[in-house]
This record gives sequence, structure tokens and C-alpha cells, in this order.
Amino acid sequence: MSEHSSNNAQKDEQKNDFIRNIIRDDVKAQKYPQIVTRFPPEPNGYLHLGHVKSICLNFGVAEEFGGVCNLRFDDTNPTAEKQDYIDNIKNDVEWLGFEWAGEAHHASGYFDQLYAWAVQLIEQGDAYVDLQSPEQIKENRGSFNEAGTASPQRDASVEENLKLFNDMKEGKFAEGKAVLRAKIDMASPNMNMRDPVIYRVMHQEHHQTGDKWCIYPMYDFAHPLSDALEGITHSLCTLEFEDHRPFYDWAVEKVGFDVPPHQYEFSRLNVDHTMTSKRKLKQLVDEHIVSGWDDPRMPTIAGMRRRGYTPEGLRDFCERVGVTKVDSVVDFRLLEFSIRQSLETTTARAMAVLKPLKVTITNFAEAVSSWESQKADSVNARWDDDAQTLWLTQPNHPNVDMGEREIPFTETLYIDQGDYEIEPPAGYKRLSPEKPEIRLRNTYVLAVTEHILDDAGNVVGLKATIDPATLGNNPEGRKVKGVIHWVSASQGVPATVRMYEQLFSVEDPSSVADVHQALNPDSLTELNAVVEPSLANAAAGTRFQFEREGYFIADTADHSRDKPVFNQIVSLRDSYKPA
Ligand code: ATP
Ligand code: MG
Repeated sequence: MSEHSSNNAQKDEQKNDFIRNIIRDDVKAQKYPQIVTRFPPEPNGYLHLGHVKSICLNFGVAEEFGGVCNLRFDDTNPTAEKQDYIDNIKNDVEWLGFEWAGEAHHASGYFDQLYAWAVQLIEQGDAYVDLQSPEQIKENRGSFNEAGTASPQRDASVEENLKLFNDMKEGKFAEGKAVLRAKIDMASPNMNMRDPVIYRVMHQEHHQTGDKWCIYPMYDFAHPLSDALEGITHSLCTLEFEDHRPFYDWAVEKVGFDVPPHQYEFSRLNVDHTMTSKRKLKQLVDEHIVSGWDDPRMPTIAGMRRRGYTPEGLRDFCERVGVTKVDSVVDFRLLEFSIRQSLETTTARAMAVLKPLKVTITNFAEAVSSWESQKADSVNARWDDDAQTLWLTQPNHPNVDMGEREIPFTETLYIDQGDYEIEPPAGYKRLSPEKPEIRLRNTYVLAVTEHILDDAGNVVGLKATIDPATLGNNPEGRKVKGVIHWVSASQGVPATVRMYEQLFSVEDPSSVADVHQALNPDSLTELNAVVEPSLANAAAGTRFQFEREGYFIADTADHSRDKPVFNQIVSLRDSYKPA
């Protein structure tokens, strides 16, 4: 309890980040009638963990300060964008638990207005059409130490520029033959101010506007003006846009907004062994390195959802990471910590044996025949004579009311191969020839009497007895240490269990030129497990704690009653503690 409340206090403290402090001051000064933020993804892929931080920040501050947050698709580059991405982005934001104001917006919805403003800039003498080739434009931008060279078109008349821009719009130029540039300062120390391109020719259909346009605004032009149009007060973006802020302010000022939006930059979220770039994640999908955008190993929201991560856990993670201007790499274990915390009191317990080893109870019939007279009062059970099964009723959670279920206890069981060792390592607390007794979870104490080996010397089966006096009672005259989980061999259900490791074996996969060299060959292992019957009946998408094994989810794509499939969400414990 005390640990829990101190964690909360810590989270509240982190909410005093520099952005919230700025907004708090603006609210106090009544600078705006309402705080308005936006989340502006480009629909060129699925959202990833990095976007979760931006979503939690933009929607989070709007909520906290009584404002609203818009969802806007920054769709100025039709070549890479698709409606499918738009649909999935919406779904992901909703799943995280956020609601955008009104309808989703599109930068493409403002194309008419942006075009009119481009014309206005030309009329003001603030923009011109450049007919240089892309190579010439690049060369003439100059360098860090050298001013750029003015284009021959830079001082053309307003009339000529208006005509050429209209020609661009009318499709009279091939791609790369003409661009519209802002007329600012070819000697600016900030390269972004050396007459940046604001419109280009692209003979390309757009997923929203069809073939209406063959010129498209550049992101740097569309973004500030879309913000201004929507009345965004605080435009929050990542640090790499810091050098773009002077142009952001220039565009808003030249068009003439009374209440300009302001851009604030925060550091990107980087997590070790994780890739946060839509473009690079797309490569993994396109090359079938993963099964799709929603492969449970992917750091996409779709992948993490299918993996079984919770929205609560992801939001908690973002709160713990906080918002700063300092670039850093966050420990992946903090994410797992938050996910684990969110599952502790919300998931039912159940038993699944991941690597089954068969155990035959040689005294089953005679031991169980006296169960009713020997059981402890705390044991709730019934005998099914036809099935020769003792059904044990167990609560689904030790201290949260999640109902009960019946677990079948039978003559043959499975325990995990790892729970019996012929030559146990030092400190081993489970079964071995020297320590043949252990408690089976929720039922009797078991004593191994014999192990069966295959030709290679592997243990392939055990024979054992149960102590009839130990159903819910401690054994007489001796202490039995340890408790293991088990599943009935005759009533249990075979299941595929997918165990995951990091997708990448290197800490910073983006630093490796060939992504194939960065992959962890053991990122997915499929196990032929056996699960208790209640698990096979679970609805797809239900999360469980498999006792002693970790948290798992019935896979949303592949799980069925006949062929149960579970994905490992996260292990049960880690020595990691957040600072
Ligand atoms: P990607 O390179 O993966 O496409 P992006 O920044 O180009 O990322 P956008 O779709 O333009 O993706 O991003 C939408 C918003 O999410 C932007 O405001 C961007 O700054 C933010 N964002 C993207 N990646 C991160 C990250 N790793 N951490 C925090 N915010 C991010
Ligand atoms: Mg991008």
C-alpha cells in the first residue's frame, strides 16, 4: 500500500513538466478562452510506442486543463498514405482511451484555404515560383558557413509568379520542374529560413481529394496554418522541429492570424531494443520479418494490443517517463513494470503447463476414495464417478472477487518439465530424487516414486503417490516445501503458447544499417502447452495470470475453443524497480 501511494505521489510530481507549467501559466493569465491541442499523425503507417507518448501528452493536457484535443491527419504526401492507416490510427487512439474533439480533421481538408494563402503570399511579395531543378535548389541553398545563392526567379514580378503558380496548379509542369518558395532570407543561419519550398508538383491521386490537385503543400507550410485554422493554442511536437519553429511563426504571421498558435518541443520517446519509426517498422512488415503491423512483437499500438498490453499500463508508463527536453533512452523494463502493475488486480488466475511432463498417480483411486472425510474445511470439491475426477472449486483471484471455477484433478496430470530435475542445481526448491515431495497447488501433497527415461536419458514421465491426508491440510510429522502448478492430463486441453523475447537483440536497432543484423532469432517460441479447461473456453482477448508463469492473453486473431492460442504478455516478476 505504501509503495503504491508513493508511486502515485511521484507520478503527480512528474505532471509538473515544463509544458504543463507553461499551460498552467497561460490558463492563469486567461490568455485563451480554452486550451486546444492536437495530435497530428501522418497516415503513412501504424502508430507506435513513440506516438503513445505524444497522444498521452496532447490529449492528457487538454483533459487536465478543461480543453480539447483535435485529431488531425497531416496528409500532405499522398504517395505514402492510405485510408487503411487512417482507420487504424483512429482505432488506436480510441483504444488508448482518448476522445478527440468533433470529427477527425485532415490537412487535405484545408487545401483550398492553403492554396489561397499561397496566392496571398505571392501577392505580398513573400513567395515566388522557382524553376530551378531540385539539384540546383539544393546546391544554391549554401552551407552552414556559406550564404545561399538567390534563384534567378527570386525577383520576378507578382504577376509572373501568379501566372506560374496557376500553371503549376493547372498541371502544366512535370514533377520537379517548378516549386513555390517562401521569400525569406538566403543568408539566414537557419537553413530552414533560406526560402523553403512550400508547394510542389505531384501528379498523384490523393486518398481524400482524389485527382483535384496536382500540387501539394509541404508539411512545414501546412502544419502551422492548419494549427492556426483550428485555433490550436499549444502545438506540441518533438525536438527535431525546434529549428522549424522560426518558419512556423513566419507562416502564421505572414498570413495574418490575431491569436497565433505556439509550438513547443519535447524530447522523443526512445526505448532500448525498440524501433520507433513508421518507415522502418513498415520494412519489417513488407519483408515479412513479422507477421504484420499487429505482430505481438511489434512496438506498434496494434502489436502491443494483440500482445495483451493494457491502455492503463501504457498510460501509466508515459506518466512515469514524463515530459522533458532532454533526449534519453528509457529502460524497456519500465514499460513491462507498468504493464505488470496494470494486470495484477485485473486478471484471473489459472493453471497452464507450458512444457508438459506426465505424472501418473499410482494410488489415485484409493487415496481419493477417502477425500470427503479427510479434506480440510476450506476445500470445496465434488467427486464425478463417471469421469473419475475430483472437481475442485477455486476462486479466480486470491483477493479480488472474480468468481470461481472448477478444476479437474485426475489420475494422470501434467507438471512442468522444469519442476523435476535428476541433478538439481544448488538451491533448487522443486522436485528431485532427493526431494521427492511437493504440494500441488489447490490439492494434495505429491511424492514422486519413480522417473521414466527415454534412450537419451531425458525424463519423460513420473510415477507418484498422493498423501490422502493432505487435501487442504499440512502433512503429519514433516514439512513439505514448495508448491507447483499442474493440469489434468485427461481433462486438460492442448494449447499453443507463444513466448516472446525482444524483437531486436541490439540496444539501438535503428543504428544498425541492415535491420536483419539487429534481429533476435529467439524473439518468438511456440510451445505445445496444456491448459486447464476453463482457459480453452475463454473469449479471445481475455487476459490471465498463468500461475508461476506470467501474464497471458487469448490471442485475438487465432484463439478458439478447439485450438486455444495464448500470447505471453509479460513475465511475473523482474528485479527491476523504477527510480
Ligand atoms: P515516424 O517517423 O514514425 O513516422 P513521425 O514523427 O514522422 O514518426 P508523425 O505521424 O508525424 O510521425 O507523428 C505524429 C506526432 O507524434 C508528432 O507530433 C510527432 O512529433 C509525435 N511522435 C512521433 N514519434 C514520437 C516519439 N518517438 N516520441 C514522442 N512523440 C513522437
Ligand atoms: Mg513522419
